[in-house]
Amino acid sequence: MIFRPEKLKIKDQRMKPFIDSDELWGYIHATPATKERVREVIAKSLGKNRLTLEETAVLINATDPDLIEEIKQGARTLKEKVYGQRIVLFAPLYVGNLCTNNCAYCGFKASNQQVKRITLDEDDLIAQVKALEDSGQKRLILVFGEHPRYDAKFIADSVRTVYSVKSGRGEIRRVNINAAPMDIDGFRIIKDSKIGTYQVFQETYHEETYGKVHLGGIKRNFEWRLTSLDRAQEAGIDDVGIGALFGLYDWRFEVLGLVRHTNHFEAVYNVGPHTISFPRIQYASQLNIDKSHMVTDAEFTRLVAILRLAVPYTGLILTARESAAIRDEIMQFGVSQIDGGTNIELGGYSKKKDNLDQDIDMEQFQINDNRTLNEIMDELIDKKYIPSFCTACYRLGRTGEHFMEFSVPGFIKRYCQPNALLTLVEYLEDYAPAETKLKGYELVSEKLGEIEDTAFRENLSGKIEQLKNGTRDLYF
Ligand code: SAM
Ligand code: SF4
Repeated sequence: MIFRPEKLKIKDQRMKPFIDSDELWGYIHATPATKERVREVIAKSLGKNRLTLEETAVLINATDPDLIEEIKQGARTLKEKVYGQRIVLFAPLYVGNLCTNNCAYCGFKASNQQVKRITLDEDDLIAQVKALEDSGQKRLILVFGEHPRYDAKFIADSVRTVYSVKSGRGEIRRVNINAAPMDIDGFRIIKDSKIGTYQVFQETYHEETYGKVHLGGIKRNFEWRLTSLDRAQEAGIDDVGIGALFGLYDWRFEVLGLVRHTNHFEAVYNVGPHTISFPRIQYASQLNIDKSHMVTDAEFTRLVAILRLAVPYTGLILTARESAAIRDEIMQFGVSQIDGGTNIELGGYSKKKDNLDQDIDMEQFQINDNRTLNEIMDELIDKKYIPSFCTACYRLGRTGEHFMEFSVPGFIKRYCQPNALLTLVEYLEDYAPAETKLKGYELVSEKLGEIEDTAFRENLSGKIEQLKNGTRDLYF
């Protein structure tokens, strides 16, 4: 099926593309990275300012190992200074893998006859959500292939079903979406189901490469995808996530593409994207790509640190595509969200398996971190991160929470950190084994002890006592 722009409504066509590949390469080729300039740019970011394309190119072009270390240190400092030690946890839930597109990198591509095609019906979906709630999850991202069956109504119905499921004290409090671009009316239908973030990854901002790896279906149309989140904004969804699939093209170009996309949102809607994702290509069934742009671990670490400095107010998402070791290493550079207890097999969460081996013909790609949610909680607590399942801003209509964390003085102390602790206590009470509970409460006491405002500390302690006595869902 070939996408025909003339079939679009006229209002959809006014969305104009905003990527000029010569401009982006121009910055990479013509921007020197002297020591002084690199330091100036890091200082600008630490002063809580978003970087321009030229400034981002300075960081990209810094290849001296000492300067790379300074960039990483800058990202670490920014994270500590602005965001503190919280890490938000979520889980992906694949709802259906039918797909009419032919993305060379994806196991769900239409031409792949080996993959088993599954769409969860309502009962299957409920079973997955129950299993996720029983492990302690509160935030999900629903993932769909691109197929006429997964239209806006189907997605909205899936979201409503997820919110309706309660298991014991468990409930899902925020549902994000990663699905195909919609038209404006479609986005409106989905918005009404009360989603959190709508993610569409551009995959590559390089149009020629985009054409080479998207071999069939609607997704072949670069502009339709590039302008998808403008249509979401138009439909009233201001909480959007962008991303690039690293490994398709030169990582330096993709970083500038992400920054350009961010600038576009700021210029047109006065608000940047809520999150940026930076998946790296993983092994997949019938993977068929040119491997010349694969990103090494060292480059990956560098690019995450650069993104942190370039767009300091945006949430950064790092998924279980990466190994536990890489995730542990990269988290310190300002990652704000990770998935935990991830299982991307359709229907996988409710299956009791005695081993965690993936069946690659049931899944979109290989994941490399299959720790349980509790194993991840343990590790975060050991490393003094505060695991958070907070959904307060979204539920109180305070959209763009990453932006507020960043720009509103005292916001993190007043809202994010206490809410992280409250959701951690819920987890410790309802789902944690004894050992996790013990060390989790040690962390909670330590963090309570750091609160200087006595009245506020007592208020928070009171809420924690209420949670211990069985009240749920308390937040500031
Ligand atoms: N079908 C929707 C779409 O294409 O927008 C949902 C996307 S897919 C289920 C989520 C993301 O996974 C894709 O946007 C892509 O960036 C990423 N992805 C696809 N194949 C991958 C692979 N082999 N390794 C890592 N990530 C991959
Ligand atoms: Fe389909 Fe999305 Fe996979 Fe492309 S990336 S084949 S659109 S599921």
